[in-house]
Amino acid sequence: MSAALVPDIAAKPEQPAAANAGAIELLGLTRAEIAAKLIEAGETEKAAKMRANQLWHWIYYRGARDFSVMTTLAKDLRERLSQHFQVGRPGASKDLKSTDGTRKWLLKFADGEEAEAVHIPEEDRGALCVSSQVGCTLTCRFCHTGTMKLVRNLSPAEIVGQVMLARDCLEEWPSPKDGRMLSNIVMMGMGEPLYNFDNVSKALKIVMDNEGISISKRRITLSTAGVVPMIERCGAELDVNLAISLHAVRDDIRDVLVPLNKKYPIAELLAACAKYPGLSNARRITFEYVMLKGINDTPADARELVRLLQGIPAKVNLIPFNPWPGAPYECSSNNTINQFSEIVFNAGYSSPVRTPRGRDIMAACGQLKSASVKRSKADILREQAAKQAALEAEVQA
Ligand code: SAH
Repeated sequence: MSAALVPDIAAKPEQPAAANAGAIELLGLTRAEIAAKLIEAGETEKAAKMRANQLWHWIYYRGARDFSVMTTLAKDLRERLSQHFQVGRPGASKDLKSTDGTRKWLLKFADGEEAEAVHIPEEDRGALCVSSQVGCTLTCRFCHTGTMKLVRNLSPAEIVGQVMLARDCLEEWPSPKDGRMLSNIVMMGMGEPLYNFDNVSKALKIVMDNEGISISKRRITLSTAGVVPMIERCGAELDVNLAISLHAVRDDIRDVLVPLNKKYPIAELLAACAKYPGLSNARRITFEYVMLKGINDTPADARELVRLLQGIPAKVNLIPFNPWPGAPYECSSNNTINQFSEIVFNAGYSSPVRTPRGRDIMAACGQLKSASVKRSKADILREQAAKQAALEAEVQA
């Protein structure tokens, strides 16, 4: 936790171009929705489908944000498009780089709310940890994000926008076939993706589309604390890899660590996992298990974990607890973690101990938290009144 911050000033992402007032955002729309918007703006039905495909290519394959560079479109069309539409990005009010190369963006959305995205580079690839909500409703006891109140769900544009922004910063346009540093996506940022599934699903379908960003479903992992009724839909609709934040092997302990367990207890959760489509030894569910000193880390817990996972193609990620200010837990000792890992490994499951990444910039698992807080309706009205008064004062001056 002591390493110094290394702000990456040189590579600071551009702030989004000033929003074109009233312009319709194309990011996050399906091809059919883009075509429909084009028709509304005066394009013929026949041409709209083809134009939507061309726009798709420019937006998601080339990363273009400005219509003037879209040279396969006629000049007058480009001008008309820029009057009606825009292709934006989330703003980044902070861009921090850890001493280990991990990079964290504090994203600022159009309404001022904030969430975080984290890039975790490896030698020849890298994962982007994407947020699905501003804040989180789950209040897991060991998670920093859980101390925030949910402000709101992120829209498809705001979810896919995180990938676009990271691509901009990593200079990975046009979408490279090989050697990408943004090769994998993990839905493990702020929020519970299965509580914002419609928007997450729409965004991930865009990310997977072969003619655009083209990251395959095998390189995408969605992590859930266990929203059981949505697991089946996730498999049927997206078929991405699944990770489960398990963290305890007994309901009485998991009820405290992950309060969602009171609604969907361990047995129900594991039954839903066993039914996840396409499971095999080559495609396993990842069970995340945070190591908390004296809470969930005994050899008996490890043996019970092995018993519970029986019959499910599974691997276990042991995550040393990442501390945050005021956290009520401590990380288990290295010895305890290694012993736990060995028991799981000897039972035939891969059980790597995750090296924490980006702890110095509070970018590691469970350390994400933005300043967004839930505001009451009265607060919002007060803010609006203050803004209005300031505007009026300006006009009078
Ligand atoms: N809501 C989803 C997505 C968030 S993923 C889910 O719960 O899976 C974030 C991961 O980091 C989860 O596995 C979470 O349990 C884990 N985590 C949260 N706080 C942590 C901490 N302080 N140290 C280590 N891991 C933590």
